[in-house]
Parts: sequence; C-alpha cells; structure tokens
Amino acid sequence: MAITLCPVCRKRISSRAASCPHCHENVTGDDRELTARQRSQSRNKTNNLKMQLALAMTLLVICIGLMLLETSQGKGPPSPWYIGISLAASGWYVATRLRIFFANR
Ligand SMILES: [Zn+2]
Repeated sequence: MAITLCPVCRKRISSRAASCPHCHENVTGDDRELTARQRSQSRNKTNNLKMQLALAMTLLVICIGLMLLETSQGKGPPSPWYIGISLAASGWYVATRLRIFFANR
C-alpha cells in the first residue's frame, strides 16, 4: 500500500482509498482526469495568488503615492496609517510571492 496525495486537498491518503478521508472527494477513476483536475486547480490557485499580488501592489503604490503627496505638501511626516498600510501591503506582497514560488515547485 502506497501513500499518495489527495488531488483535491493535497493531504496524504492511501493510494487504494476510494475517497479521500479528509475532504471526502472521490479519488478513484481515470488518472488522466485526476491530473487534469489537479492542473486546473493549481492554475486556479496561481491565478488567485497573482490577483492578490496585483492587489497588494496597488495598495502599496496608492499608499506610497499618498505619503509622497502629503510630504510634498509640507504637512509634516506622513500619517502612521499610510506607513502601517504600506508595511502590511509589502508583507502581503512578499508572502504571496513566496506562496506562488512554493506552489509552482
Ligand atoms: Zn482530500
């Protein structure tokens, strides 16, 4: 009996199991079909991550723009809100980049 990964939830299951004990997905059937499903799921995941990457980048650009605008108008140091949101957006961006990197391995 071999251990394989569930094509749906990616948890370890027995290769002889008819359905995944974790997500109850039916895992029997054509291997080709499973691979296609796996590929389409991994593509969906990457697309979702790329969307998050774009969102994080947009948020970061907007915040930096607002900070620059505030600073250039001589209103003193930028609001801590912008700094906080920029840092959060940078963290989000880096984390999403890493997730894409590991998802594609
Ligand atoms: Zn599963």
